[in-house]
Amino acid sequence: MNVPAEARVDLGAIADNVGVLRERARGAEVLAMVKAEAYGHGLVEAAGAALAGGATWLGVAKLAEALRLRDAGLTVRTLSCLGVPGEPYEEAVARDIDLTVGALWLLDEIAEAAERAGRPARVHLKADTGMTRGGARGRDWEELVDAALKAEASGRVSVVGAMSHFACADEPGHPSIAAQIGAFTAMVEYAEKAGARFEVRHLSNSAGALTVPEARFDLVRPGIALYGLSPIPALGTFGLRPAMTLAAHAALVKRVPADSGVSYGLTYRTARETNLAVVPVGYGDGIPRHGSNLLEVLAGGRRRTIAGRVCMDQFVIDLGDDPLAAGDEIILFGPGDRGEPTAQEWADALGTISYEIVTRIGVRVPRAYPGGAR
Ligand SMILES: *Cc1c(COP(=O)(O)O)cnc(C)c1O
Repeated sequence: MNVPAEARVDLGAIADNVGVLRERARGAEVLAMVKAEAYGHGLVEAAGAALAGGATWLGVAKLAEALRLRDAGLTVRTLSCLGVPGEPYEEAVARDIDLTVGALWLLDEIAEAAERAGRPARVHLKADTGMTRGGARGRDWEELVDAALKAEASGRVSVVGAMSHFACADEPGHPSIAAQIGAFTAMVEYAEKAGARFEVRHLSNSAGALTVPEARFDLVRPGIALYGLSPIPALGTFGLRPAMTLAAHAALVKRVPADSGVSYGLTYRTARETNLAVVPVGYGDGIPRHGSNLLEVLAGGRRRTIAGRVCMDQFVIDLGDDPLAAGDEIILFGPGDRGEPTAQEWADALGTISYEIVTRIGVRVPRAYPGGAR
């Protein structure tokens, strides 16, 4: 490695994690959620690994992400989950991207785009079953279903899916889980009675796919679990393997006297004469500034806490008498098998979720795929 820092992604782990999910989701297909650069792991590479592991669909949030998958030559069924006005829906239809529709205005916009594209748009109707984010509920659902079936009859859309999203699947036994399953079942039933012939009905994220068998329906949509991070840390790892290791090379190691103030604000003071290392990643690379004087990394085989404030491009660690040199490797987080912290551990220390830790690793940190592509 001759870069300041890199995120090493184990694509084999992603493929194996799909295997874990397929085992749990017995019978249901797996749609691999690769939005937000595959939670920071690299959109196209992670998508390829998930498909190699047996996923049969890809999912993203924004249409631009789906178009990038097509640009990369991936022709597998791909669902874009978040519709906003004014997107290039004609191109989406022409490039065979499945679209999520949770409102009449979006259905109209997509139907018009499909007319221009000269082929029906593949749409998944989004039900709001209790999360109260996207999707339609109550009378709005009925109107959406009826309008979609009309648009289908006129050849402008093809109604291929019904979907919804869990609010609390990561809280086992939460009463909203059963309530959402019940609402989804009833809403699908309404649509089917009205004449919808869904190819796929889908509700479950990672937590649902791993722990709510009755919510598998035809397809599950795991995200975080693909990357080996547990959607329900209190229940353990589910046999998943973290795919990302964030590593850096010490930019500088120097000996400083006792009572030296370190980094902006001098919030850390050396207890005695000691070796300090400058680690060349900072909040501009996605290292949380809230991790100042808090997060641990692995340096020279030992855990060291970030000394002083995280800066934009760098932070400092106190090595005691350990003889590290510039260029030596420092592991920020990884699977944990060499004693390094995990992304989950960082998340716990910061009061956030592992999703945010891996997703925020920025564009200045190159992704490396040591085991090769799949
Ligand atoms: C992000 C997302 C998922 C995946 O959620 P995880 O908790 O990461 O498994 C599933 N479905 C939709 C619609 C999403 O936006």
